[in-house]
Amino acid sequence: MAVRPIMVLGNPVLRNKAKKVSRIDQSIQRLVEDMIETMRAAPGVGLAAPQIGVPLQIAVIETEKDEVHVLVNPEIVRLEGEHEPDEGCLSVPGYWATVKRAERVWVKARDARNKLIKVRGEGLLGQALQHEIDHLQGMLYLDRLDDLDNMRRTEPSRRSEHDANRDPSEESEVRGEAQSEARA
Ligand code: ZN
Repeated sequence: MAVRPIMVLGNPVLRNKAKKVSRIDQSIQRLVEDMIETMRAAPGVGLAAPQIGVPLQIAVIETEKDEVHVLVNPEIVRLEGEHEPDEGCLSVPGYWATVKRAERVWVKARDARNKLIKVRGEGLLGQALQHEIDHLQGMLYLDRLDDLDNMRRTEPSRRSEHDANRDPSEESEVRGEAQSEARA
């Protein structure tokens, strides 16, 4: 397994529709392992293959520790409700925004063993499912904003402060943390 470099905004691989995986073989399984390691190292709650420069329809999500969803050729089958969570992206470092998302989502996909799976997600999992599937269409969360002025800067010291003595009453800290937990 290896941590791969993450492509950032401006790289065309993030803007192209990824190709369907035709055969889930060992090379795909190795790629999935690298994606999981890269997501955890970032750290993020999800990662799509184009984010490491591979234009294939594969995403990994880990919103609960050690509960990894591997999604090959995922498709949204149903969306329900709406909410506006804070969201960030590993490929758009230093920023976050409040994004309109469906509250619940149902997705079908193959897993790394080519088994057909169905995932229902709400909350952070639902948000990550929508965010990663957007990546596979060449879409970024900022495309869903009415105005790019709604993007906010993450304070540069945020990451190192993550577990430091924060004052939870400071709203910017709390919102910044919500953002870092929702990066994908
Ligand atoms: Zn992203």
